[in-house]
Amino acid sequence: MSESILITRNVPIRYTVDVCVTGAGPGGIAAAVVAARQGAKVLLLDAHTMPGGMSTAGRVPVLMPCSDGVNFLPDGFGREVIERFTAVSNAYGFDNSGIFLNAEQLKRIYEDLLTGAGVELLYYSRLAAVNVENGTIRQTVYASQSGLFAVAAKVFIDGTGDGTVAAWAGAPFEMTPLDEIMPATLCSLWAGFDWQAYRAGGAFSHNDDKMPELLAAAFKDGSLSTEDHHHTGIFRNSNLAAGGNITHAFGVDGTDERSLTRGLVEGRRLLREYENFYRKNIPGFSDAEIVDSGSLLGVRESRRITGDYTLNNEDFKSRRDFADEIGRYNFPADIHPPRPTRAQVEEHKKLFRSTACGHGESYGIPYRIMLPCNVSNLLTCGRCVSTDRYVHASLRVIPGCWITGQAAGMAAAMAADSERTPREINVQQLRANLRKIGAFFH
Ligand SMILES: Cc1cc2nc3c(=O)[nH]c(=O)nc-3n(C[C@H](O)[C@H](O)[C@H](O)COP(=O)(O)OP(=O)(O)OC[C@H]3O[C@@H](n4cnc5c(N)ncnc54)[C@H](O)[C@@H]3O)c2cc1C
Repeated sequence: MSESILITRNVPIRYTVDVCVTGAGPGGIAAAVVAARQGAKVLLLDAHTMPGGMSTAGRVPVLMPCSDGVNFLPDGFGREVIERFTAVSNAYGFDNSGIFLNAEQLKRIYEDLLTGAGVELLYYSRLAAVNVENGTIRQTVYASQSGLFAVAAKVFIDGTGDGTVAAWAGAPFEMTPLDEIMPATLCSLWAGFDWQAYRAGGAFSHNDDKMPELLAAAFKDGSLSTEDHHHTGIFRNSNLAAGGNITHAFGVDGTDERSLTRGLVEGRRLLREYENFYRKNIPGFSDAEIVDSGSLLGVRESRRITGDYTLNNEDFKSRRDFADEIGRYNFPADIHPPRPTRAQVEEHKKLFRSTACGHGESYGIPYRIMLPCNVSNLLTCGRCVSTDRYVHASLRVIPGCWITGQAAGMAAAMAADSERTPREINVQQLRANLRKIGAFFH
């Protein structure tokens, strides 16, 4: 065992609120806004410097589809974000199925929504400890610019993506072994390209026939040093800029800063190679350059916090309805291959195609997947809710995180208001309240 030290110190309880949300990604933001609009006193804290998590700091370039062809699935909070986004928009939609994200616009919209709802917002505040007594969280502690401080709340919400609050509070979790875990991607911002020339030249992602050939040549001549056949692509996200969701860092542990640091360094090394590759090979990119990369590494998979129910592949395949359903979603299982081989890319494509939902189809999302075992006053939302690997690979995308975030916020406000735990609230009342704000479910 490594050496350790014992530190005992007084930590001021600087805030006492109804609902404390840690993590301002799409899930945490939806939760905070919805809870505050119900009249709860809400504090939202984030280790980083902006709202949006992966969708802004991580520079994820595209919003995945929101519709099943009939219904708008992340209705309520998700509709509001998209309406605001398209109103200011140089947001370029494609095939009616997704929207290219401009991170700066998204940050402004999220901050407007948060401040408009009366959420107290704190950046530069990283979770440092969770104080639990008999399965109830008393306070969460943050390391901030001004030192350590604690937050007492009736209900806590884990929006960290990695389930850090829940895991540190003693909730069980699952995590795929690192040799099988989805790779991370350092997303990138590109400028100086000619979009018309690019479009005229064809499309260039792993789904198109031109890219495999170009990649194979670059692997052979060594200009791309990692033989990674899974090339997701570059997407236009304004008149002037494009977002890259390219390169993979394999075996990254999103719960360990040493592994994350290696992933970031590897991501930037690979992006340099791909900048040259695009300039040399891709129409419209001869003068392009990468002007920024994500300030957070794009971690697709880490902890899945075990809740009162684990939503699984069978539920997905049967498009199951639930009595405690709080939303529905339909994105296919997008499990990025854990190794960069051609065979794994083919397997990925097969799984993606085979899990695509038909017109008007979706699977139900039960409330219980947000109630972590062993902890009474905590809800999870976003990427870390209780699912198996397949459902995780669907529900982890931004619209899915809005859906669980919205429900977590409503449930937390109801629990705080009635002095109950989230497990004790009336779930049919929760569903009725969610319907009032526009949520879609059966
Ligand atoms: C490379 C990549 C590409 C993707 N592509 C798409 C796509 O094209 N379309 C799509 O819809 N989705 C995409 N996704 C999925 C989606 O972006 C994420 O899964 C989603 O943002 C997760 O939302 P979240 O709310 O759970 O948390 P996150 O977005 O991960 O945000 C978590 C927030 O919590 C904060 N935080 C974390 N730990 C702590 C702590 N200890 N203390 C305080 N704060 C903390 C972080 O700073 C962050 O702001 C992609 C994801 C990745 C990684």
